[in-house]
Amino acid sequence: MTDAEKLEIRDITRIERIGAHSHIRGLGLDDVLEARNVSQGMVGQKDARRAAGIVVNMVKEGKIAGRCILLAGEPSTGKTAIAVGMAQALGTESPFTSMSGSEIYSLEMSKTEALAQALRKSIGVRIKEETEIIEGEVVEIQIDRPATGTGQKIGKVTLKTTEMETNYDLGNKIIECFMKEKIQAGDVITIDKASGKVTKLGRSFTRARDYDATGAQTRFVQCPEGELQKRKEVVHTVTLHEIDVINSRTHGFLALFSGDTGEIKQEVRDQINNKVMEWREEGKAEINPGVLFLDEAHMLDIECFSYLNRALESDMAPIVVMATNRGITKIRGTNYRSPHGIPIDLLDRMIIIRTVPYTEKEIKEILKIRCEEEDCTMNADALTVLTRIATETSLRYAIQLITTSNLVSRRRKASEVLVEDVKKVYSLFLDEGRSSRILKEFQDEFMFSEVLDDKSTAMDCD
Ligand code: ATP
Repeated sequence: MTDAEKLEIRDITRIERIGAHSHIRGLGLDDVLEARNVSQGMVGQKDARRAAGIVVNMVKEGKIAGRCILLAGEPSTGKTAIAVGMAQALGTESPFTSMSGSEIYSLEMSKTEALAQALRKSIGVRIKEETEIIEGEVVEIQIDRPATGTGQKIGKVTLKTTEMETNYDLGNKIIECFMKEKIQAGDVITIDKASGKVTKLGRSFTRARDYDATGAQTRFVQCPEGELQKRKEVVHTVTLHEIDVINSRTHGFLALFSGDTGEIKQEVRDQINNKVMEWREEGKAEINPGVLFLDEAHMLDIECFSYLNRALESDMAPIVVMATNRGITKIRGTNYRSPHGIPIDLLDRMIIIRTVPYTEKEIKEILKIRCEEEDCTMNADALTVLTRIATETSLRYAIQLITTSNLVSRRRKASEVLVEDVKKVYSLFLDEGRSSRILKEFQDEFMFSEVLDDKSTAMDCD
């Protein structure tokens, strides 16, 4: 690994480490799905975490699809944190896709296509393939280069198993391995016919002798006995979206790396659905519905909601988890108001998990965890002041003050953050409440200031 690569990897770790939810390592539940007070970076919000744990178990069992869960609660009550915890608890086996409702509008494709892709990225397909492993001792290798000038090589190897000597044709990939591993007569090898991987097990006792400087025989294996041709099951896990992209002729598989997949035709998707269903019937594939997390769900509009309503009915639908901090508000794209800005018919399909505001003790615990996460040593009094600030403003604002007060304390070469550092950054950086108060007081001096009457809100103006 070059120095530049090492540096890059370190930088990425750093970025992840200080992300808003980087302290969350799971849902912090015990074996019977009871939420521990403080565990895996999670604090309080026990009912919601427990409910999320049940959903994770449902997903892991993989038996249900097309369920929709809504995390609803006031701002900064840990909805996104719970979704991150769910993703961690699911592990790498089940796909977890996350997007914010507003992202739908900034993609170079229609809103429904963006949703279709997100839904299909959240469905895993475990494709099982049987491969043959040949194991034996190399008797003779023949490699020829045909005159076609394509660079293709052909060849065959004579392998000795315990019973007999057999000739095997070598594919180009296998030949490459032979050359790289410097395989020669006398070596005992395995060849995986599906992947073309050749593994050298050692030297045959019967045909080759290697001696070290002292004259002792060093590398040898007994010529393997018993079952020499094994069948092995290889499982590839891909998402439905990846299969779509690979089979979409206009884009090809390279689009998977650039992310520039464009719109995929419905006929391609239908064909793939049929094929995957066929594989499932034949026992060649398993469908593994994962989770699509849609944060800021109220940002979706009526078209998106009606698309989701229908898409959730499909056999191939993942579990959709939405989060919103809105109360009764307009459904985007209509003049109707509805709870959480989500149409009633979709709400009716959902199970709703409520998050509740934190107690002062819980807020203190979350701030403490965040301090550890950001390598910030804060003294007890400063933490108490910061907790008070969080209760009077917001948890998120207080979390922001950790980094800034840490910087201020470091500037004065102190080893820990004191009350004065917290006070300093509190006076330097405004929270939303103080900023609004200032705006109200001095609005005439700002540009384009409009006085709203009491009933209208900024959201109603768009
Ligand atoms: P919004 O409605 O504004 O999107 P939210 O409910 O999604 O807010 P989060 O973003 O999850 O709130 O929480 C704000 C911050 O507090 C994040 O850094 C989050 O990791 C942290 N946090 C929230 N709840 C918990 C918790 N129970 N345990 C540990 N950290 C938490």
